[in-house]
Amino acid sequence: AAPAPPAATPTAARPLAKPAVFVPVNRSPEMQEERLKLPILAEEQVIMEAVAENPIVIVCGETGSGKTTQVPQFLYEAGYSSDDSIIGVTEPRRVAAITMSQRVAKEMNLSQRVVSYQIRYEGNVTEETRIKFMTDGVLLKEIQKDFLLRKYKVVIIDEAHERSVYTDILVGLLSRIVTLRAKKHLPLKLLIMSATLRVEDFTQNQRLFARPPPVIKVESRQFPVTVHFNKWTPLEDYSGECFRKVCKIHRMLPAGGILVFLTGQAEVHALCRRLRRTFPCTRRGPQEKEEQKDSVEEMRKFKKSRSRAKKAQAATLPQISLDNYSVLPAGEDGEDREAEMDDDEEGLGSDLDLDLGDEGADEGEQPDSSLPLHVLPLYSLLAPEKQAQVFSPPPEGTRLCVVATNVAETSLTIPGIKYVVDCGKVKKRYYDRVTSVSSFRVTWVSQASADQRAGRAGRTEPGHCYRLYSSAVFGDFEKFPPPEITRRPVEDLILQMKALNIEKVINFPFPTPPSIEALIAAEELLVALGALQAPQKAERVKQLQRSRVSCPITPLGRTMATFPVAPRYAKMLALSQQHGCLPYAITIVAAMTVRELFEELDRPASSDEELAMLKGKRARVAQMKRTWAGQGASLLLGDLMVLLGAVGAWEFAGGSPQFCEANGLRYKAMMEIRRLRGQLTTAVNAVCPEAELFVDPKMQPPSESQVTYLRQIVTAGLGDHLARRVQSEELLDDRWRNAYKTPLLDDPVFIHPSSVLFRELPEFVVYQEIVETTKMYMKGVSAVEVLWIPVLLPPYCQFGPPAEKPPPAYCPNMGRVLCHRGSVFYRVGWPLPEVQV
Ligand code: ADP
Ligand code: MG
Repeated sequence: AAPAPPAATPTAARPLAKPAVFVPVNRSPEMQEERLKLPILAEEQVIMEAVAENPIVIVCGETGSGKTTQVPQFLYEAGYSSDDSIIGVTEPRRVAAITMSQRVAKEMNLSQRVVSYQIRYEGNVTEETRIKFMTDGVLLKEIQKDFLLRKYKVVIIDEAHERSVYTDILVGLLSRIVTLRAKKHLPLKLLIMSATLRVEDFTQNQRLFARPPPVIKVESRQFPVTVHFNKWTPLEDYSGECFRKVCKIHRMLPAGGILVFLTGQAEVHALCRRLRRTFPCTRRGPQEKEEQKDSVEEMRKFKKSRSRAKKAQAATLPQISLDNYSVLPAGEDGEDREAEMDDDEEGLGSDLDLDLGDEGADEGEQPDSSLPLHVLPLYSLLAPEKQAQVFSPPPEGTRLCVVATNVAETSLTIPGIKYVVDCGKVKKRYYDRVTSVSSFRVTWVSQASADQRAGRAGRTEPGHCYRLYSSAVFGDFEKFPPPEITRRPVEDLILQMKALNIEKVINFPFPTPPSIEALIAAEELLVALGALQAPQKAERVKQLQRSRVSCPITPLGRTMATFPVAPRYAKMLALSQQHGCLPYAITIVAAMTVRELFEELDRPASSDEELAMLKGKRARVAQMKRTWAGQGASLLLGDLMVLLGAVGAWEFAGGSPQFCEANGLRYKAMMEIRRLRGQLTTAVNAVCPEAELFVDPKMQPPSESQVTYLRQIVTAGLGDHLARRVQSEELLDDRWRNAYKTPLLDDPVFIHPSSVLFRELPEFVVYQEIVETTKMYMKGVSAVEVLWIPVLLPPYCQFGPPAEKPPPAYCPNMGRVLCHRGSVFYRVGWPLPEVQV
């Protein structure tokens, strides 16, 4: 497939010992010249010899030394993609998989049919593909289809220093696959690439690699970077401090690009806007006003069709059946199941901001007569075309200024940066290991990260890094960020591993194992969901679990493992193959999986105008949520009905960005839901071909009884996220007013004010997640009927002795029982109260 030019360009500064195979690459002379500047080119021979002699090799080199772009090329030229095999490269971030595949194709003068990428939703892999960049979740999925990964002769795990959960699992799995492949005389090479020298979790781990693999260090060609600490550390307004610093640098210091590190998308946009206003580049024409009338009209149509769909209500309470899931072997061509790592930065704020951002001087900066500043944002949710802009030189007579989140820390190297402004913070998602309550926190980075950030300034010439904190504060930073696997719940990983028939997860060679509590919590949840076989006797099993954590997977678990979503959602999908609920369940799950459907409207406004705009929009969004949630039965589905309504209305409106803008929805999130709906539909069809499901964008709203089934399906999936309203007679103190009690938390939790059930206060609810801000708030709330609980969630119930009298709706002492840590929170008499079908 590769073009075979008459004269191949030599690839290394040093002559290479002739490899057995040499696949010529026809690079342009300019490209070749650029490559030769990269430090890794000097190590080509060392690396290739090590790869030839060892099954596993670790390559360490500073960001920008050329690992990602060059090592796949070395392997290609040495024939590791001959005989139709593929060189696989995994990246923890989607951005990197896409941009790196494009870059390598360009350098090698090959089409993207040969150097391709695959991420969760999309890819351009063809029969001709020889180098394949993918996110780590994609490769994990491929291992499930073919444990030996026969297509590949080499697998490169890139950015291993980031220690994403999937990277860690892949390293563990591949350590075994390499051995198995050797036994079958089909050798597989594994390369682990890291931007730091801290690789002892891989090399010093005997369970992982019996013999420590060789580590090749790539000399960095780093210019000295002068680090300037602040004398004091700003407490709150680090964004403002960044702004002032950039202004100073731009006005006073010689030419050279500026790179600013902030923590999130919204901050990035705000700073970009301020800088553009202060140092204008070009005048932009006024943005077109959104055509709001159209979308309102479309909405009316949607509402009309919903009321039409409301059929006569069934007299009896409808009931889903718990064992009515179809269990077939997973289809061969199921879509990618990739639970990709969350982006480090939250997807808050609308992406439209970027295009609309230049209107109005709402922050009162006066345009400055200095050189124009070419300001570009960079964060992982930014559209790939816009991300690519940072690689092009800035327009003549301007200075480049990139305002980035920590994506610019290691995955992408921006050329021409001489000044780095580092706020020293990073936004991270924190989980409580037991309760899985999560919160986003802006915290100090690690010393390693701060040094990485500083290093970005010395790529092309000596540079400067301005740290907006004092050296004393820096001294208190932790040395390295802890691996992700120690920081988040692991039920999705455990299910995937069980589907790979790894029963004793605790024996798995994790580079850093998750805590035993996290493993037990995950296993317990999966047992409750029916994905793992319940142990015979609870007591014995507790001990067993503590020592080994080894419940086998059930057929339902296998089905769930084929869906590319977290186990709770997978359970919902597995249950919804009844009463025509699948399309709705798919939509709800897709929408729940995508973070933050709605724009962040609670942000502080910087002018009266903006304040009025935000206020208006908040009112509009609240009104639309009420409309989408509807009344009666559908309101009880709560925030999940809102999701369904929002997606439905948007699709009815033709899926336009204007509709999103008018209703405070994030266009990008909506597009992702659309893609995910398609992907989940394919996954469901693979499990259950007779469903013959297709995605109907203009899906009719669910009927009233379907809404009730959906509520039950949601209850069954989110069973461990059940909460009961605290009755007035139980109020301990004022803190508990309107509060809910959950089995695991001692503190009160509340329905989030943005929920449509905020004022309804149903007696029992299930929630998608608890987020801790000023209080603990439940988000994604849906109401539950008390009588469903013993039927749908028996693992969370304790059944009392036979009762003569009919049991009360719920036991009055439940409040007390609920406080016990563990799963006991519901007592009913025996036999069970009848739940009508
Ligand atoms: P590493 O993986 O070691 O961090 P890379 O292989 O990503 O290094 O980058 C090597 C060089 O290639 C860097 O100098 C970077 O600026 C350049 N580079 C990478 N991607 C692009 C691109 N899309 N356009 C222009 N230059 C790029
Ligand atoms: Mg790299």
